[in-house]
Amino acid sequence: MFLDSTGGQSSVNTNPDVVVIGGGPAGATVSTLIAQKGHNVVLFERDKFPRFHIGESLIPETYWVLERLNMLPKMKASCFVKKFSVQFVNAAGKQSAPFYFHDNKPHECSQTWQVIRSEFDQMMLENAREHGVEAHEETRVLEVLFNGDRATGVRIQTKDGQQLDVHAKAVVDASGQSAMLMNRFKLRIWDPELNKGAIWTYWKGAYRDTGRDEGATIVIQTPDKQGWFWYIPQHDNTISVGVVGPFDYLFKGRGSHEQVYNEEVEKCPAVQKRIEGAERAAGYFATKDYSYRATQAAGDGWVMIGDAFGFLDPLYSSGVLLALKSGELAADAICEGIAKNDLSAAQLGAWAPAFNQGIDRMRRLVCEYYNGFSFGHFVKKFPHLRNTITDLLIGDLFTDRVDCVWEPMESLYPQGHQHPTQWDAGTPAEIAANKENELYLPEELRA
Ligand SMILES: Cc1cc2nc3c(=O)[nH]c(=O)nc-3n(C[C@H](O)[C@H](O)[C@H](O)COP(=O)(O)OP(=O)(O)OC[C@H]3O[C@@H](n4cnc5c(N)ncnc54)[C@H](O)[C@@H]3O)c2cc1C
Repeated sequence: MFLDSTGGQSSVNTNPDVVVIGGGPAGATVSTLIAQKGHNVVLFERDKFPRFHIGESLIPETYWVLERLNMLPKMKASCFVKKFSVQFVNAAGKQSAPFYFHDNKPHECSQTWQVIRSEFDQMMLENAREHGVEAHEETRVLEVLFNGDRATGVRIQTKDGQQLDVHAKAVVDASGQSAMLMNRFKLRIWDPELNKGAIWTYWKGAYRDTGRDEGATIVIQTPDKQGWFWYIPQHDNTISVGVVGPFDYLFKGRGSHEQVYNEEVEKCPAVQKRIEGAERAAGYFATKDYSYRATQAAGDGWVMIGDAFGFLDPLYSSGVLLALKSGELAADAICEGIAKNDLSAAQLGAWAPAFNQGIDRMRRLVCEYYNGFSFGHFVKKFPHLRNTITDLLIGDLFTDRVDCVWEPMESLYPQGHQHPTQWDAGTPAEIAANKENELYLPEELRA
């Protein structure tokens, strides 16, 4: 029990060092790492865990943050399917050789996992609690409190409707696509190139490879090259199969999500043959999947991480890595700031320029794929760069060592082909006004 700001008793510590909004991978990471340094951290999550979330395929560079979080023993003991590689199937149905992460980096970090997010996120949140984080579920942050330009805390609403003000030295926005502070300060730039949508469902008894290929993510280009399918093997004999395509192509004038999904499967023999005879294990999920980023990561007393800072198209499964990595960088900046008594925007957001460069590298690889880049063709032409391409695929993004792939990539451009537009070129206001990342759940999961 704690004394609340009005002197009454409350089960919420209303004067922690740091308050975190959201208990997804970003929130769990930042809070655990700050608590490890002995600071008081209170985290608020509006949902009751376990709850559904998309984002099921991890990439190897998550290893290093999971290690700091002391999550590795839990991951190793879990039922999650082990992932050793990623494989690409082109529009003609031709399958590339797997990009085995271990061939590139012979270290245990090269094996990662396909997770069921409800289970993974709950493990991460429990782990945060074990490290001393005071985490409250079914507690919504209504707003961030400010004194002038400086964030001073949050106003929350508990499950029973009680409202409380919680004051802290720093506020971390890890609210995912709700992006509380990005919306409040209108900091969002919608990506000018990546305007996609996704529809997916789950299959039991669909095709699974064997041995070290069993857990591979397979990225299958659709025959008309409008989009691609993810094929992600999970435990419980389940495979997650989703189609990603341009928003207008998937969602305008084509009927229900089920209808569009089935039409896309029918057009794609590489998917059809894999799910033949399998039983659908869920309804149809869909999301408008526009990529975006904020123009700044922090202000005085506040910082944004994970999807609350930016979202990148899911082609290479980078979302959880970016959530973990930004959580780690922000945690270090906050702990250093507390020690120096400096919780300014400059201190809390000092990590963001280098982090943005890393996202830019992954984004460039995403845009190149949508503009016709073929992994198979590239490594055939430049076999000495196979390892560097694999570095990008594992999420080793925060180094200029990998930039040696761009020039050879450009040398394969057909005549007149343009570089991808920079993310901050933005989107015309009238188009931006109609954008919103919405998640459509199947009936069985709607509250
Ligand atoms: C179609 C699709 C496929 C994807 N596939 C992959 C993949 O294969 N691999 C991968 O790594 N990533 C993938 N991603 C991305 C991944 O889902 C996200 O990047 C990741 O979940 C971000 O984590 P986060 O902690 O920032 O946000 P979230 O996981 O969304 O967590 C935010 C939390 O904040 C809570 N919250 C929101 N508002 C409030 C409030 N006001 N008060 C309290 N709590 C609040 C929410 O309930 C939520 O639990 C995919 C995304 C999409 C859309």
